[in-house]
Amino acid sequence: MAAKRRRRPRKVPLPPVALKSPVVKEDLPLRWVYYPEHYGTFIGFAKTANSKPVLCACTEGAVRNCLALALAGVRTQIYHRGDLRVLRLPSQDFPSRLVRVALGKDVDPMTWLRFESKLCHRCNVATPSLRFCHEMYGEKFKQGYGWYINQAAYRLGANPVWPQCIDDVTPEEIVTKITELKRLQDRKPETRTKVLDVSKDSPHFVEEVGGWPAEVFADPESEKELQRSAARLRRELQNYFENIAREEFGFRRVGEGWVSESLLFKIVCRVLPETETISSLPVRLSARW
Ligand SMILES: [Zn+2]
Repeated sequence: MAAKRRRRPRKVPLPPVALKSPVVKEDLPLRWVYYPEHYGTFIGFAKTANSKPVLCACTEGAVRNCLALALAGVRTQIYHRGDLRVLRLPSQDFPSRLVRVALGKDVDPMTWLRFESKLCHRCNVATPSLRFCHEMYGEKFKQGYGWYINQAAYRLGANPVWPQCIDDVTPEEIVTKITELKRLQDRKPETRTKVLDVSKDSPHFVEEVGGWPAEVFADPESEKELQRSAARLRRELQNYFENIAREEFGFRRVGEGWVSESLLFKIVCRVLPETETISSLPVRLSARW
């Protein structure tokens, strides 16, 4: 008798990456979901494909901080797809449908943006149907929920990309890290004159990188050390924001255990809305499997 052939599990294709502010239908209270531009932050929700998207009330503080940071610094000069007007709404962070509305209004966006409670994936413990980034640029959680990592940063008054924060909003430990990262990034490294010599035997030979002579540092060892320190700070900040988002969605923290009790609690509440569910059991029960 021929041995039974085991079927290999079929690979499920990964969802597409949300690139150009796509609009898709999902199983949420307002079904039309307006994603921001690639690597953006805030997601809009609408009843129909034509109605103006509304933001989730849980993001109001983050939106306010994002607008304040845009006004304060690096993101002041923001142009939308070739339009040379300076926008009051950072085009990278919001769905392009809202950015188009902002183009016609020279007023503080907080006067016309609308917020309604319990619309977003976080408030509904739902998984976005699109991905935040390609698998080359982030691990699983970032791919699936990257927008919510950015929201966590803005909620704390910190820019998720640049070393910039609102000192009286951002927690002190984050302000300290951001200030140090900014100092490292802004400093002018001491470099020797770059020399490009065609002869490999010449003492002046400098290897080309992408058609340009590679930078030669006066003190390469300490330069490397400074770059490593900056990279470490960037990673620590990213992990800090990501851990907040991970906990909100019930995922383990970066480098820790499994799906948390809080996610289980939220799922039970969602599946059994009529039943009273008690969380925070005084004793954690462990089952013998
Ligand atoms: Zn929400």
